[in-house]
Amino acid sequence: MRLSSQLIKDLANFDTKGSTVVSLYLNVDGKQYIRSQDYQREFDSMLKRAKSQIEQNPLAKKDIERIYSFVQSPMDRSKVRGIALFSSLDANLWKVVELPVPVQNFFIINTVPQLRQLESICEASEKIAILNIDRQRGRVIVFELGEVIESQEVFDELPRHEDDKGDWERDHLQDHKAVLAHKHIRKSAQLAFDLFKKYDYEHLVISGSDDVVAELEKELHSCIKDRIVLRANIGISSPSEEYRRLVEKAEEKIMRTSHMKLIEKIRDKAAVGTGIVTLKDTLGALSEKRIETLMVSNSFEKPGWRCPNCTNLAEKGPICSVCGSDMQKVEDLIEEVIQEALHQSCKIVTASESADLDCLGGIAALLRY
Ligand SMILES: [Zn+2]
Repeated sequence: MRLSSQLIKDLANFDTKGSTVVSLYLNVDGKQYIRSQDYQREFDSMLKRAKSQIEQNPLAKKDIERIYSFVQSPMDRSKVRGIALFSSLDANLWKVVELPVPVQNFFIINTVPQLRQLESICEASEKIAILNIDRQRGRVIVFELGEVIESQEVFDELPRHEDDKGDWERDHLQDHKAVLAHKHIRKSAQLAFDLFKKYDYEHLVISGSDDVVAELEKELHSCIKDRIVLRANIGISSPSEEYRRLVEKAEEKIMRTSHMKLIEKIRDKAAVGTGIVTLKDTLGALSEKRIETLMVSNSFEKPGWRCPNCTNLAEKGPICSVCGSDMQKVEDLIEEVIQEALHQSCKIVTASESADLDCLGGIAALLRY
């Protein structure tokens, strides 16, 4: 099943009548988990972590069995990088949502589906159009959440057979062809604008040879010109995977920009006390449930401590500063922070290779107040 805002609404309004609902977010991204055993192993360790949760909810046992056999069964991951799954045998609920983006692994038993990550993905999703052009053909494809939602083409054939003509005729034909090609480029620009009016795409990728693209950019409406995020040159007849790769490249660029903006915002907010840029302050804000958006570097790992009594997390143990209990050592404090933030329905943004975030120490947050 594909993600849509309607699907989120349906799940939010689903009447579970107080039954147990198991929500699972599983990252199945082929870039991170090459073999299926790799993400299946992750799922096993999620179940181990959730041991006490499961013990407290014996009704969820059958749901977990059903989810387990789903995770063990073969999955086509060519377009799927994340799975969101909601199961309640009692309430007759079984929804598997295939996502074109990776997710944070998360498992929770509750009485309602946990929709936070789906909402974040939906909110962050922006439409991307590709305008691919040569002198005869122009194609516009609009993508949303990794899927093609529209594809249109214009074709303006150029006259051929100039070799058997004399000089004058050949020059004349060349001029004529240039005029036709220009008309074609204008038509393609118009098609991109028409589809912009229809779909309001946020980003545009332009593909074509340098001379055609230069001519095209002169013809593009200024409001879509501002949306150009990437320039490339793949042939019009390229297979769909090639187009998809171009979209992925654009997405990476868009993501990097949005991460930079978020860091800037956190830095600004830090000056007025609602932005946080250290692990110590993040831990404090987390225990006070004040975090709205948590930003973490993918490569950030650090051992630490967790309080089994009040779930407080700390860099240093062994005594909990909140309740005075003995804390337990944890291998990766940052993963614990992410899991706790997910339980609190915070928005999580993970960044890889963000020099700005690494400069801040790998973790930062925006606070609710
Ligand atoms: Zn404690």
